[in-house]
Amino acid sequence: MSDVFQFMKLSRNPGDKIDASVRKIEFKEIYQPLHEVDAAEQAGRCLSCGNPYCEWECPVHNYIPNWLKLVEEGRLFEAAELSHQTNSLPEICGRVCPQDRLCEGACTLNQGGFGAVSIGSIEKYITDEAFKAGWRPDMSKVVWTDKTVGVIGAGPAGLACADVLVRNGVKAIVYDRYEEIGGLLTFGIPEFKLEKSVVKRRREILEGMGVEFVLNTEIGKDVSIETLLAKHDAIFMGMGAYKFMKGGFPGEDCPGVLEALPYLINNARQSMGTLPEGEAAISMKGKHVLVLGGGDTAMDCVRTAIRQGAKRVICAYRRDEANMPGSKREVCNAKEEGIEFQWNRQPIAIEPLIGGTLAVKLAKTCLGVPDVNGRRNAEVVPSSEEIIECDHVIIAFGFQAEAASWFHTDNIKASSNGRTLASSRSSFPYQTSNPKIFAGGDMVRGADLVVRAVYEGRQAAEGLLAYLEH
Ligand code: FAD
Ligand code: SF4
Repeated sequence: MSDVFQFMKLSRNPGDKIDASVRKIEFKEIYQPLHEVDAAEQAGRCLSCGNPYCEWECPVHNYIPNWLKLVEEGRLFEAAELSHQTNSLPEICGRVCPQDRLCEGACTLNQGGFGAVSIGSIEKYITDEAFKAGWRPDMSKVVWTDKTVGVIGAGPAGLACADVLVRNGVKAIVYDRYEEIGGLLTFGIPEFKLEKSVVKRRREILEGMGVEFVLNTEIGKDVSIETLLAKHDAIFMGMGAYKFMKGGFPGEDCPGVLEALPYLINNARQSMGTLPEGEAAISMKGKHVLVLGGGDTAMDCVRTAIRQGAKRVICAYRRDEANMPGSKREVCNAKEEGIEFQWNRQPIAIEPLIGGTLAVKLAKTCLGVPDVNGRRNAEVVPSSEEIIECDHVIIAFGFQAEAASWFHTDNIKASSNGRTLASSRSSFPYQTSNPKIFAGGDMVRGADLVVRAVYEGRQAAEGLLAYLEH
């Protein structure tokens, strides 16, 4: 019999965190898994609200209170089954979602100051433990059709789309230009948030369900889109958003100034042992590093640099801490690991110095009027410049979607900011202006979150199934 007052007797426990002194020298996940008893007890803190706000704030609308109940009762396989009904990558979302802004931010327990149910850690626990105990998605009732869909991109959107397609008997063949699946899960998000083995295991599960991967294959270069259109009954594009956003100040192209994503990809490939021949390993060992930006990518860069042995890592951001776009949890983790933050600093110029170091001129800012999204603009304070000297600058100002060169020949329309036009409200959700091609994830909504890419991949798969049947 569950205790309705468990939330008062037991405090919130999302799993132990490895001490900063240990974790900052290794590329391993920093949160320890919950044990069976802890998971059941933590799940038992849920109030089973009649109107579960957590479900509404979760972008895939997970049946959270229902699977929490199953965990409390020790019914692990049923919890895994239910969790997969709404989420194709639950163990990954449990690790990387900014829960404080999503499900856990909406938990009723926050209101009384009791601390939200640790939903993310329990979601991770369910799938990790179910896989360990031998649970696999049940494909026994799937009736295979003769239809095939070519999926471009093995990131969260493409994987989620493929998952729903094969569960409905449609063969999914996923093409990716990289050597491993996962998109930014593998080549962007570092191992201290998501270990590569978790994505590899998901690959085995998807392959076991009938998904086929064709890697090291760039569509538009190695294989034309026409070949794909001729080969498959329909196409899904989940190609992400990769156009690097520049700051537009002098010195951005100086030697020693790096773009965030190539730096993170280089680090990921070092750990996977897949650095291409001729590409040198980048290391910040013994260096003074300045990271410009305040989002998740900036946090991943500062924490990667410190783990590579950087002597000093500073993060400079043009707004204040409260207005940072990055997850609060990750900012807190970065601070614990020794990163120094300089808030309200805008880069003005970078100059190379004799001896190979860099002088970065930063101006102080104050917050002005809100922009169209309600965020207050950073305004430069006159005559407030100061110089920071460092060995490397890493620029992490974010990414934009970009239309591929072949879009116009295939009648795929994109907006002026590069986002592919594919609406959730059209008769076949996420269909593009080419009826045979669907799209979702970052390339449609702009750089965003894993869980939203998963949602769109799943919704697009529903659109594709309806299109293939009509
Ligand atoms: P992607 O993950 O970018 O996948 C696109 C795939 O398409 C790639 O594998 C690419 O190689 C492939 N591709 C592109 N063009 C072609 C082509 N022509 N032919 C073949 N393959 C192609 N989100 C979170 O929720 N939590 C986080 O902690 C978080 N941290 C992040 C850290 C970093 C450094 C970055 C950059 C992003 C982070 N995000 C995070 C955002 C998240 O990773 C993305 O929103 C998500 O991965 C988008 O999924 P996607 O499938 O749309 O695209
Ligand atoms: Fe929370 Fe993300 Fe899981 Fe939804 S998918 S329950 S938002 S951790």
